[in-house]
Amino acid sequence: MRFLRSLALLFTLIYGVQAQQPPGSPTPTPVPLPSPTIKIDRYRAAAARIIGAALTSDRAYSRLAHLTDHIGNRISGSQNLERGIEWAVTEMKRDGLDNVRAEKVMVPHWVRGEESLEMLTPVPRKLQMLGLGNSVGTPAEGISAEAVVVRSFDELDRLGEQVRGKIVVYNAPFVNYGATVSYRSEGASRAARYGAVAALVRSITPVSLQTPHTGAMTYDANQPKIPVAAVTIEVAEFLQRMNDRGDRPTLRLKMEAKFLPDAESANVIAELKGSEKPDEIVLISGHFDSWDVGQGAHDDGGGCIVAWEAVRLLKELGLKPRRTIRVVLYTNEENGLRGGNAYRDAHRAEIVKHILAIESDSGVYRPEGFGLAATAPLQMRSNMQEIAKLLSGIGADQIAASGGGADIGPIVREGVVGASLDVNGEHYFDIHHTPADTLDKVNPRELALCVATMAVMAYTVADLPEPFK
Ligand SMILES: [Zn+2]
Repeated sequence: MRFLRSLALLFTLIYGVQAQQPPGSPTPTPVPLPSPTIKIDRYRAAAARIIGAALTSDRAYSRLAHLTDHIGNRISGSQNLERGIEWAVTEMKRDGLDNVRAEKVMVPHWVRGEESLEMLTPVPRKLQMLGLGNSVGTPAEGISAEAVVVRSFDELDRLGEQVRGKIVVYNAPFVNYGATVSYRSEGASRAARYGAVAALVRSITPVSLQTPHTGAMTYDANQPKIPVAAVTIEVAEFLQRMNDRGDRPTLRLKMEAKFLPDAESANVIAELKGSEKPDEIVLISGHFDSWDVGQGAHDDGGGCIVAWEAVRLLKELGLKPRRTIRVVLYTNEENGLRGGNAYRDAHRAEIVKHILAIESDSGVYRPEGFGLAATAPLQMRSNMQEIAKLLSGIGADQIAASGGGADIGPIVREGVVGASLDVNGEHYFDIHHTPADTLDKVNPRELALCVATMAVMAYTVADLPEPFK
């Protein structure tokens, strides 16, 4: 589904850099592909062994269980994230992987603190909320003001100065992630422009059981910084009804959110060294940080475990590819992208040696295949489709028209071909960035299928005797 792919692109948009393809742009008309120049028959036996081993091992799930239950959520700057990084480095060495290391990255350190939202009048009650990442806090006594509810930026613009001194509540229905997330990322500054004192944003999700969804926001440097929080769909609709009846609800928002000085973190790297062309790299990756709620199970503990377990499994099976497969667990994807940028800077000299970079950051649901960057050469697309046939038995043989990811974005912009592990995303945004992103939402079999999909693709691309292009 296109909206899933725009998730990755979205972060690039938030951080103000060029995306490969803007969210919502039309799917390109299929172009006839050249015939594949590679032969996959020699990989059928290896693919079958990889798939069998992935589906009969509980290692991926038990490691994700350790990460989520024993370490927990992992926001940048937290002790949990650094404990997780230490654990991953230790375990990867124990797995016998090559060149295991943590590459230092300084990351922003935003802390939420205590926070609450209550209705003061006409009906005093507590309301479910979750502050947005990077928001400023309120004064200790909170901000108390009348709420004005709008369904869109257009409605806000029509009200204009009428929102001065008030709390703007955006009740924008979910269209798709790429389209609706602008309320989360820009809502505060657009309300501040008209003198609003705080903003609340309906959670960016199609489904809610009173679960608020956090996520990154950014301030327009030309507007005053006002605090901003997510509210649940239920709260947004409640406030909408109050607003429409002319009840003029008043709210009190309290948030202790603030930035501490940057903290030391790291990208974690491990390799399966290539036997013939060790300097050529197939990169597979996820992001190790998460939001500070839930367990970061699907986003993106699962994606990290998929990349890591793919190489561990290849090593266990004695499959040594011609080229190097490099696992990167990036730090600070959620509220800064410092890990992705630091990787590009630290590895500039070998960027041209990256023959493919795959990111897994759409949850670890049933895999459907890969999304290959729309800009990839047609011959490479044809060859990747050929390799994906090795995954047809598990239904993961689709190569979508576009793909990529936020963390590989910096090297993709330097010319590396990017791809995403694509999964069935039906329920990803139900739990995305919420306290409900926990291990019980992960199906062990679907996780194992993701491992198999990633391992077969990475191994085959890395082992091809001919160039992958
Ligand atoms: Zn993520």
